[in-house]
Amino acid sequence: MSDAPNISPAHPGNIATALERNRAFAAARGYEGAVVFPNLRLFVITCLDPRVDPAHFLGLDLSDSIVVRNVGGRVTEEVINDVAFIGQLAEMALPDGPLFEVAVIHHNQCGTGALADDGFRHSYAEKIGADESTLRDHAVLDPAATVAHDTELLRSASAVSPRVTVSGHVYDVTTGLVETVVPADG
Ligand SMILES: [Zn+2]
Repeated sequence: MSDAPNISPAHPGNIATALERNRAFAAARGYEGAVVFPNLRLFVITCLDPRVDPAHFLGLDLSDSIVVRNVGGRVTEEVINDVAFIGQLAEMALPDGPLFEVAVIHHNQCGTGALADDGFRHSYAEKIGADESTLRDHAVLDPAATVAHDTELLRSASAVSPRVTVSGHVYDVTTGLVETVVPADG
């Protein structure tokens, strides 16, 4: 999902390949020790781009983090509701102190850049019945700027517990490095 997509040749396996790996996972008891509340007390929001898988670039193991991925890793109303939901559950388990940190991570070469193209945006807006100007704002053209914007959205969301901290980062798909743009608050 970039200006010059690097698409690998069609793989005949699709879900069959993944299911084979699942059988190996189950046989090795990879599920053992998994817990509901994330070990790192972390909630990652990032892009669904397959290059941007936090299990890999953040080295997250099973149960280390909650992960929500969508187009661009944008903080939408649905994402705010998800954070509020987990916040409310966590408040029941932890009577005081910090609950968890939400890390919003945008990346360069993001496919959402297509939404800055008038033709693409117009056709997509029609398809999903959305407002074109809102869709334009969804494009991640300057990840440092959009991540700062989205971090602020979460911090100012009244539905999100004040005991949840929020940070913002940019992942560079060409170096593999994550840079912090907005350090965690509180
Ligand atoms: Zn992306």
